[in-house]
Amino acid sequence: MDYSHLAGLLFPDVTATPEQIEAKYPARQLPEGAKVTRFAPSPTGFVHLGGVYQTMVGERLAHQSGGVFYLRIEDTDSKREIPGAAENLINTLSRYGIKFDEGATVGEDGQVTDNGIYGPYKQSLRGDIYHVYAKKLVAEGKAYPCFTTDEELKALEAIDKKAEVKSREWTENTEAEQKTAMRRLREFTMEDVERNIAAGNKFVLRILADGDPEKKTPFNDLIKGKLEIPENDEDFVLLKSDGIPTYHFAHAIDDHLMHTTHVIRGEEWLPSVAKHIMLFRYLGFKLPKYLHTAQIMQLDENGNKKKLSKRDLGANMNDYTRIGYAPECVSEYLLTILNSNFEEWRMQNPDKHWSDFKFGINKMSASGCLFDHTKLNDVSKNVVSKMTAEQVFDQLTEWADEYDKDFSALLRRDPDYAKAILSIGRGGKKPRKDFAVWSEVKDFIGFFYDELFTVTDTIPDSFERDDIKKALALFADTLDMSDANAWFERIKVIADDLGFASDMKQYKADPAAFKGSVADISMFIRVAVTGKMNSPDLFTVISIIGRERTLDRVRKFSESL
Ligand code: GLU
Repeated sequence: MDYSHLAGLLFPDVTATPEQIEAKYPARQLPEGAKVTRFAPSPTGFVHLGGVYQTMVGERLAHQSGGVFYLRIEDTDSKREIPGAAENLINTLSRYGIKFDEGATVGEDGQVTDNGIYGPYKQSLRGDIYHVYAKKLVAEGKAYPCFTTDEELKALEAIDKKAEVKSREWTENTEAEQKTAMRRLREFTMEDVERNIAAGNKFVLRILADGDPEKKTPFNDLIKGKLEIPENDEDFVLLKSDGIPTYHFAHAIDDHLMHTTHVIRGEEWLPSVAKHIMLFRYLGFKLPKYLHTAQIMQLDENGNKKKLSKRDLGANMNDYTRIGYAPECVSEYLLTILNSNFEEWRMQNPDKHWSDFKFGINKMSASGCLFDHTKLNDVSKNVVSKMTAEQVFDQLTEWADEYDKDFSALLRRDPDYAKAILSIGRGGKKPRKDFAVWSEVKDFIGFFYDELFTVTDTIPDSFERDDIKKALALFADTLDMSDANAWFERIKVIADDLGFASDMKQYKADPAAFKGSVADISMFIRVAVTGKMNSPDLFTVISIIGRERTLDRVRKFSESL
């Protein structure tokens, strides 16, 4: 059979040669050992935590080795594409400090454009390139057309949407019969093709598989380890009937031309590796190295592992923005689940930026990692506790501008006041670890603002209302704000005056001898001034709130008793 005649029939408009294309994608000039990695998402809506997790791997490996990290938009499935998804993706990832050196990028007009010479970086713009290689494969007898009508395709889709080798000949379901059907698929005459082309019939392009599934190919996945993969014998589709490539075909061509050295992708692609090995071989391309990342799992109510799926809280990156996680907290958390030695490094290097950590593929878990909300919040509290009040103010107000405008107005009304509040417990050796997310800050600090102040906690009934009133009156009369010691000495005097122990040791030795202790007197004041039983250091709080407002709150609270 004259294959180049067939190739010409199928691709009459393709005039370029693979050599001409290759010339436009010269080898990258990079230092020895530099890795070229990419993130290649399909723009189907929201960004999943797993996507950020994967990009971190790619970003770290490329940038730690002096390589290149680029973004390719895999938009070949227009049915699944959501307008604006690519822009959203780029913007979301940049929040997490994930910067692409090259690839699809958001231009000044907010639209996706290209940055780099290995583009276009949007697969929908690469149609001509795929067709050049498709023509070459046909000419070499490695791919062949398969004509089916739309109706037949629909009927086949109804049988199984995922199967890529379904054909009209597939009427029976046993494996042996399917194989025979594949053989028959390959048996066409030139006249068949000519007739179909003349009639304007559409075709899908299939690979002519030469693999024997009884034989195994050794395959080394850098995360999963050494595997044995049965050879591919499936005539899978390279081009769909609209001429658009399948993932497999586009993957081989793009990663080859863009000189990707390491393909980092979800483990759902592992079963397709045999196809890719075949395709790279047919095309004469060097196989890149692969890292198949495991799914992020979580524990369900019964303690069983399950996939962190689309609808779960924590899967969609928009949730993190809305709830108000500082991006660096999420990055830091992801590193704890990505590399088993990260936490140890963090303990030894409490003040370094996470990007100073030497990320290693060998420290990644092959079986996957567990998403743990509590852990995320702990990591987050730790990261936020190390921020300056200024940094907290900036991030908090930026979040509030979007999600709590009233609160943002309060914070911005007097930034110095807000920063004084946010400075409490910050900066020392053991900073306070109270905020994990911005959306909980209002609950913690709302009482500093009269607009938000309400008394939510009540003083236990075991204390005489009269004693509370007396304590508050004495407090108001003798308030000394000159320094923390003087202030506390006054409180102790109040305690003694009212039959409460001013000395905690004495109190603990014989609690029955007292109405309570100095801690209870402080608690009365705390509830009156902050509305809560728990607050940061009371003297600091009162110093920020100021004398007048403190006294005003104490008076009102006393009246309410
Ligand atoms: N578009 C594919 C996906 O989103 C990319 C897989 C890959 O990175 O090669 O799953």
